[in-house]
Amino acid sequence: MPENSNSQRGFNTRVIHSDYEAPDGFGAFPVAIHHASTVLFTDVASMRSRSWQDKSAYTYGLHGTPTSFTLEARLADIEQGKHCLLTPSGLAAITLVNMAFLASGDHVLIPDNVYSPNRELADWLSRSFGVSVSYYDPLIGADIAALIRDNTKLIWAEAPGSVSMEVPDVPAICAAAHARGVLVALDNTWSGGIAFPAFAHGVDIIMQALTKYQSGGSDVLMGAVITRDRALNIRLQTAHMRLGFGVGMDDVYLVLRNLPTLQLRFQAHDQSARKVAAWLKDRPEISTVLHPALPGSPGHAIWQRDFTGAGGLFSVLFDEKYTEQQTDRFVDSLKLFKIGFSWGGAHSLCVPYRIEQMRQHWSHKGILVRFNIGLEDSTDLIADIEQALAQIA
Ligand SMILES: *Cc1c(COP(=O)(O)O)cnc(C)c1O
Repeated sequence: MPENSNSQRGFNTRVIHSDYEAPDGFGAFPVAIHHASTVLFTDVASMRSRSWQDKSAYTYGLHGTPTSFTLEARLADIEQGKHCLLTPSGLAAITLVNMAFLASGDHVLIPDNVYSPNRELADWLSRSFGVSVSYYDPLIGADIAALIRDNTKLIWAEAPGSVSMEVPDVPAICAAAHARGVLVALDNTWSGGIAFPAFAHGVDIIMQALTKYQSGGSDVLMGAVITRDRALNIRLQTAHMRLGFGVGMDDVYLVLRNLPTLQLRFQAHDQSARKVAAWLKDRPEISTVLHPALPGSPGHAIWQRDFTGAGGLFSVLFDEKYTEQQTDRFVDSLKLFKIGFSWGGAHSLCVPYRIEQMRQHWSHKGILVRFNIGLEDSTDLIADIEQALAQIA
């Protein structure tokens, strides 16, 4: 213990300004959880010279601590990017991209199958902030060129759409966008950042809902925006600072804790989901299995060309003879599958969607039901689906 220079001070001062410092040199695998709003400077000169944009040092808790910088670096590495910013949710990551790259008078192109809150946000930007929005067929490919206007600044893609599962031709969309100087942002959540090398396929900005596979625990809400280009990152950083998108370091720690098993979990979800999907394909109650790895699913050939895996999320269309009342009874009859939003955790989930209300164009018949295949044994999951299907016979 150092000599206690504090001993002459009052109790409240002594409990706040202790002289004790834990010794350096502690080694362990977990990244330390550094909570901070205030970050200390040794003197005024170092305070004045330090920039919040420079990640070689710290300025204020909102811009990061060693804990969040570590997660950002690991996520950038997973996606083979250079820069990463954390946000308080996946939706906040989408908001960050829109606020960084869109202004009043600009135009943005969004796939018609996009994650619904992304559409909600875009419609709000359109109604109240002077941004014009068009929705495109997710399978449009190179024909997106015809939709690009002089004021188009950003094209969103989602690979695949997380409810109806169309796999877009991301390289073709990027080529058309870049020919007109337009940026492409991809919601890469479905692939966990490991089954689709988005930068290699031309994407400029990757968005991830870490809430899903990276967290893996159904207990954290967080997002990330990843780039390779320094100038893009500076625009994102500036918007991030203005919006005050801080994240809690306990949550950052939970994501860091589960990251080493990301690929193992993803592969386990993938294997099990393909077994369940293949079984469903042979069932008379199901007209179509919307799983990108199965032939007949929209964009399957593109998935085969561009992806290295599939994860646990897919949907089915029931035969059109089944009413919503019957398919609701199917979902209610499941025992292992729980009813709830989100995915990427250990527990299997099942949700029916009224998809025709979510889209401009939807031509398929039959009720859509989405499955998140968790980490339970696939034989038990199939048995659960089988008994629930028997309830609607
Ligand atoms: C969940 C999800 C988001 C949003 O993530 P939150 O953390 O729930 O806001 C965005 N995109 C996709 C595809 C998602 O599944």
